[in-house]
Amino acid sequence: MPDSTKVKAYAALNAKEKLQPWEYEPDALKPDEIEIKVTHNGLCHTDIHMRDNDWGVSQFPLVAGHEVVGEVIEIGEGVTSLKIGDRVGFGWIRNACGRCDYCLQGEENICRNGYQGLILGHHGGFANRMRASANFAYKIPDALDSASAAPLLCAGITVYTPLRTHIKRPNTKVGVMGIGGLGHLAIKFAREMGAEVTAFSTSPTKEKEAKEFGAHYFQKWGTTEEMNAVLGTFDLIICTVSSAIDWEAAFSLLGNNGILCLVGLPVSTMNIPLLPLIFGQKMVAGSVVGGRKYMQEMLEFAALNQIKPMVELLPLSQINEAMDKVASNQARYRIVLVSED
Ligand code: NAP
Ligand code: ZN
Repeated sequence: MPDSTKVKAYAALNAKEKLQPWEYEPDALKPDEIEIKVTHNGLCHTDIHMRDNDWGVSQFPLVAGHEVVGEVIEIGEGVTSLKIGDRVGFGWIRNACGRCDYCLQGEENICRNGYQGLILGHHGGFANRMRASANFAYKIPDALDSASAAPLLCAGITVYTPLRTHIKRPNTKVGVMGIGGLGHLAIKFAREMGAEVTAFSTSPTKEKEAKEFGAHYFQKWGTTEEMNAVLGTFDLIICTVSSAIDWEAAFSLLGNNGILCLVGLPVSTMNIPLLPLIFGQKMVAGSVVGGRKYMQEMLEFAALNQIKPMVELLPLSQINEAMDKVASNQARYRIVLVSED
């Protein structure tokens, strides 16, 4: 095979190592697959958890990148929904069984037979090209530029799904905990869905921007005194924090019937006091990305209402600097890596 057909990627060869240029020969294009020329990658904190093998599921060499936008350059013989030149995106899920009860209702993210991840045993978007099933490629609406669309494909859908599921009425009191890539989009979506939004952050310097994103209030996350005023008042808390925090303090913010929904993925366990849980009819919930139904809906909602992430553009060759910035909470608020020819 001539070198030109090899995919030029950035890979971690071992856990916790810096990424380096690395080439691989792609498998033959399957009938349901497309190949894209990658143009943009949002950098999700999950890519850092995966590089560091925090969850023990990473396979090396690891080509991460799962907020991928690009142009279709080849289509498998069975693909009828896309054509060469289309602008499409891939998120965390690259395939699912398509037949189980969850898949049939558009919840491939909880496929009974286990969905296949874009960067789980498969090479993702930190590369010049990428192949995956057309069934999980999303056409990017014309009203969204590629740099804005990329972070919606993981960060956007991950916060849209629980907000869409749990917000049942106007003025729902929503707290967003952790104002990073996911968190700042959660503020924007929650505000557009009619919620009363409070941003909880350990970074006081984020207050001005959190309010510009749509938060009505900004609350410093930390000491009890700072939290006392708002204890027991929230209908829904979306926790996007990437490290373990004081879960009981987060839980104590809920009012009756309140839901603490966790999307951030530190390796942690929780101790929740049962009496307030039961007598306040509270819930602790989890949520993982989203299925095709909400992904499609979220992209249209974002395009219609011009909900876009605040992005910082860097060339893909600066992937390691970008990862350092995200790991040290310096990204504002999503880094998007732009491919160079
Ligand atoms: P990010 O941009 O790094 O944002 C995380 C935010 O958490 C930071 O900006 C910071 O916000 C806060 N934070 C970090 N360390 C903290 C600490 N020790 N104590 C308190 N707050 C802290 O990360 P992201 O890309 O948004 O991802 C967030 C998490 O969601 C990651 O764990 C990622 O793996 C996970 N994730 C889950 C799903 C899913 O499907 N469930 C999908 C995508 C990502 P402040 O400065 O405002 O405090
Ligand atoms: Zn992600």
